[in-house]
Amino acid sequence: MTIFLCRACGTSFDEADEAPEICPICSDERQYVPASGQAWTTPEKLAGTHRNAWLQLEPGLMAIQTVPAFAINQRALLLRTPLGNVLWDCIALIDDATKTIIDALGGLTAIAISHPHYYTAMQDWAAAFDAPIYLHAADREWICRPSDDIRLWEDDALVLSSAITLVRGGGHFAGGTMLHWSGGDGKGVLFAGDIVQVTPGADHVSFMWSYPNMLPLSAAEVADVAERLAPWPFERIYGAFSHQNVRQGGQEIVARSAQRYIDRLSGPAQ
Ligand SMILES: [Zn+2]
Ligand SMILES: [Zn+2]
Repeated sequence: MTIFLCRACGTSFDEADEAPEICPICSDERQYVPASGQAWTTPEKLAGTHRNAWLQLEPGLMAIQTVPAFAINQRALLLRTPLGNVLWDCIALIDDATKTIIDALGGLTAIAISHPHYYTAMQDWAAAFDAPIYLHAADREWICRPSDDIRLWEDDALVLSSAITLVRGGGHFAGGTMLHWSGGDGKGVLFAGDIVQVTPGADHVSFMWSYPNMLPLSAAEVADVAERLAPWPFERIYGAFSHQNVRQGGQEIVARSAQRYIDRLSGPAQ
């Protein structure tokens, strides 16, 4: 019996003798089954060929990313605050070095995840650090492996600490979640996942229902995501992938990008 990991998206499945026939996350229109077919690995095999790399994004905030790239090439963010460490989003590989480093930094107080493309091996991270996993209840159907550590939350926001709030943005997934951190400098930081997608120039963001299949959201849905973020001040945005780092003007960029998107959906450029 072993845990199986989907090679295409990194989702983990309960212990079994044989790999699952399908990965529900990949079969959904918001991901894809590779043209070569669904393929699987195990945590042990992955730890033998890959490792996690660390990058400090700013004081108190580090990115953790598996190298060479695995699955969707997700990154997780480790946010260190006086009230404890929070892991934002998750990756499939949790190896001994990662456990040792995070233990040395004080462990984890909580894990919070933007949407099912980052559920990966959250169950193993939670077990390793005895930490609860906060997921929005609207996405519960995408949990592929049960865990007693999962805490489903509802409504539009969940306060994790005086400096950290989870905000439901919706859009890409019904429970699509972002994390607002008041920030070490008090200017506000948004951890956006791909609920708000940072573009290559880091001066726009975009909004999609399916990125791999390039299926957009409606104007009303984009407006709704932007409205849900409007009350939260933030200068910096950290997106789903490496280099998706907006260093200033984040709140204005989200508002402007949402309006631009809605204008484009409304008809030909004026
Ligand atoms: Zn998958
Ligand atoms: Zn996604």
